[in-house]
Amino acid sequence: MYKKLLLLPALLCAALTLSAQAPNTEVKAAAGETHAIHQGSYTPSFAVDGSHRRVRNVILLIGDGMGVGAVNAAMYANGGELTMTKLRTVGFVRTQSADNFTTDSAASGTAYATGQKTNNGYLGMNPAKEVIPNIPEILAPLGYACGVLSTDDLNGATPAAFFAHQPARGMKDEIWADLPGSSLLFASAGTQATFEGLPFATQEEIRRRYTVVYDPDDDDANDSERLLYLPKTVTLDRGDYLPATTEMAIEYLSERSRKGFFLMVEGARIDKCEHANDFPGAVSETLDFDKAIEAAVRFAERDGHTLVIISADHETGATILSKAEPGTGYARGIFASKGHTPMMVPLFAYGPRSREFAGTQENSDVARKILQILTGKKYLENK
Ligand SMILES: [Zn+2]
Repeated sequence: MYKKLLLLPALLCAALTLSAQAPNTEVKAAAGETHAIHQGSYTPSFAVDGSHRRVRNVILLIGDGMGVGAVNAAMYANGGELTMTKLRTVGFVRTQSADNFTTDSAASGTAYATGQKTNNGYLGMNPAKEVIPNIPEILAPLGYACGVLSTDDLNGATPAAFFAHQPARGMKDEIWADLPGSSLLFASAGTQATFEGLPFATQEEIRRRYTVVYDPDDDDANDSERLLYLPKTVTLDRGDYLPATTEMAIEYLSERSRKGFFLMVEGARIDKCEHANDFPGAVSETLDFDKAIEAAVRFAERDGHTLVIISADHETGATILSKAEPGTGYARGIFASKGHTPMMVPLFAYGPRSREFAGTQENSDVARKILQILTGKKYLENK
């Protein structure tokens, strides 16, 4: 009894010290489990993978929050296979932003879109708040057709980094207002309701520049010069929106490019599930993202001149796979955080020149390499 009384204040003190030091985004360990339905995967031929053939098209797929933990969890829950883990070029990406060791999606999205690191929250601007050009703005004048699609709203940080220039990611109306002046021929993301909630003048400006459709099979979509496809929903009840719209975007951009195309596809909701420490959600969102990857890799296989790059803007949740039974789809995971972490994220690549993405690189290096491969010119020196 005497010893216990002495121990109690000591324990309380230790607990208080720990909670005082820990940022409020950290949780001790939140666990969850899932029973995934096996969806298979696709293995390409690797005939031109890693070759020095000319690259006409680049498809960059960004899994928001998709760290090694999310990839492991989805892979083992899916019988040990994913299309992305079947690819032979693998690397790592460091994600730190200009002003923060742990990035947000705006700074990392900007690094992927422009080849330059910036401060958290900034979109298409450097730390001095100067506008910096994004990949579509550099490639469109050269004859490339460019597009983005996401399971976030179009003003979400990752898609916005590829067309907007704003000092704060929360400036929703201003971000949408940047769309009509952008270099995108194709955009699809959330949602009809988001669009209709914009100031009327912004909607009008967008309609002047883009054919806006709510249905992918709308006849106006085929005849359009520039297309904005707004689904009803981008949340879990969206069906096969992400893989199907990836196919749609590839077809749309292929038909409208003289030189080739650049497409960014974001699986946005892996991050959102990890913030909520929702393990089954993180697994199913990563599996859905892998279906979009499959669509891109299948096209690359048919085309032979397409480079596919898959990575993430940052890790979220300190997501850990703790147990799995690949034969049954059972997987159990633990989250050690409710926020972003500074850990490196995996990168997978397929197609000609894919080997240039092997090894460890900065998120900004990925954009520089894409631009160098497509334009043949060195874009910005590595800092
Ligand atoms: Zn996040």
